[in-house]
Amino acid sequence: MDKSVEFTVPERCYIDGAWVDSTSGDRFESIDPATEETLASVPKLGAAETHRAIEAAEKAFVDWRARPATERARLLRRFGELMGEHKEGLAHLLTREQGKPLSEARGEVDYAQSFLLWFAEEGLRLYGDVIPSHRKDARLLVLKQPVGVCGLITPWNFPYAMITRKLGAALAAGCTAVVKPAEQTPLCGLALARLAEEAGLPRGTVNVVTGEAKAIGKALMESESVRKVSFTGSTETGKLLIAQSAATVKKLSLELGGHAPFIVCADADIDAAVEGAMASKFRNSGQTCVCANRFYIHESLYDVFAEKFAAAVASLKVGNGLDAETHIGPLIDTAAVEKSQRHVEDARNKGATILSGKEHASLGRHFFPPTLLGDATDSMQIMYEETFGPVAPLLRFREEEEVAKLANDTPYGLAAYFYGRDIGRVLRLAEALDYGIVSVNSGVFSSERAPFGGVKHSGYGREGARVGIEEYANIKYVLLGGIAT
Ligand code: NAP
Repeated sequence: MDKSVEFTVPERCYIDGAWVDSTSGDRFESIDPATEETLASVPKLGAAETHRAIEAAEKAFVDWRARPATERARLLRRFGELMGEHKEGLAHLLTREQGKPLSEARGEVDYAQSFLLWFAEEGLRLYGDVIPSHRKDARLLVLKQPVGVCGLITPWNFPYAMITRKLGAALAAGCTAVVKPAEQTPLCGLALARLAEEAGLPRGTVNVVTGEAKAIGKALMESESVRKVSFTGSTETGKLLIAQSAATVKKLSLELGGHAPFIVCADADIDAAVEGAMASKFRNSGQTCVCANRFYIHESLYDVFAEKFAAAVASLKVGNGLDAETHIGPLIDTAAVEKSQRHVEDARNKGATILSGKEHASLGRHFFPPTLLGDATDSMQIMYEETFGPVAPLLRFREEEEVAKLANDTPYGLAAYFYGRDIGRVLRLAEALDYGIVSVNSGVFSSERAPFGGVKHSGYGREGARVGIEEYANIKYVLLGGIAT
């Protein structure tokens, strides 16, 4: 490892401002998905340590919420600046632990940093209201106050950004947090704890616990002190958390799975649509919750689109993300490879053609060739299950109404894409698509300043944007009476 780009992460958890081991001494390993080499081992914490982290966050909340917003903003900004100062080290760590190509890892560091800087500003503008009164003797005030201790549970596909998108908003609103990174990317989570410490965030405001998901999750969900849980991950786990939240009536934000349609209308700019399709489908090797899952192409340009898309897919280089030429890194684990494999086999058995998709070079067990499937049909698994891998199925459509119906025929509702120029159709489709995010003539849309989130089984709540901080604030109505002379 080149020392100049090494970012050292303590191989311990961060609770109450101290780096700690599990009481049992149990640990688990972080593995480089490209080489299957062990990068480090980290503590396998359970319920007891999570309770300690919650207590620390509860104690820290008293002071943190009382600090001037300007001071919270200053510390949060410093946290963000440190991400920038350590960008190369953080990007290399991310590529090694998660597998994405370095250029994408650098992009994620920027994206993750943007949430800390954005919410440092938004915390300064968490305004309340003074409502024109209905009574002479009273004034009506609305205060926005921090909800309290927050549990933040995050996935492995964007291990920095999924944490900062939550943590930045929570801290800016005056909340404290217990963060649970994913099993596959604990080092990225602990790297952020190191930077939070270096930025001078008071002990207990940020706690990072790695370990047993079920035990940590249950401890967070059962705690009366934890007033909010924000979760990004699978719909299955999200539903479990909804059930677990009932006993303590906990506030929840859920960013869950998706099954994004990508529609190319008859008047679309084909080259732009191919470029957008590549960005949407193959970023992070297809492992994003907003990746296009189904491509509906108008029959009049299906053949041309398929040919150009296939050529672009064939030009992708698969390899270790540390190699500057790599476009597609490894998938996160063998289960992910098996799912992509299963979707391709099922589609082939049901009549799909392989338009692009070279057989595996002997890169390792976690690599899967980017694959384009032609003549897909609704009965194929890939049409209703989230692949989370680099496989794209193409279908033909004829009518606008038909395609809107097909696009909405899913329990999910996170992101949808379409390409077209007719202004009437653009507006009609944007309104008709039952999704939290609709991206028109663009394969990428994420920004710290825009609201991210889904509808239906893709969850509820929004992250980023002006509204992102509101998720961490309680609204309090204060009636000030007895003031008439
Ligand atoms: P997952 O299994 O639900 O895991 C996500 C996080 O939840 C991990 O930290 C995991 O810990 C934890 N977890 C698992 N079981 C838990 C439990 N019983 N209680 C509390 N926490 C628990 O999801 P995944 O398969 O890793 O992630 C991929 C999914 O996330 C996809 O469906 C994708 O669409 C979705 N996703 C959504 C968004 C979005 O913004 N909507 C963004 C990214 C990903 P362990 O890792 O230790 O098991």
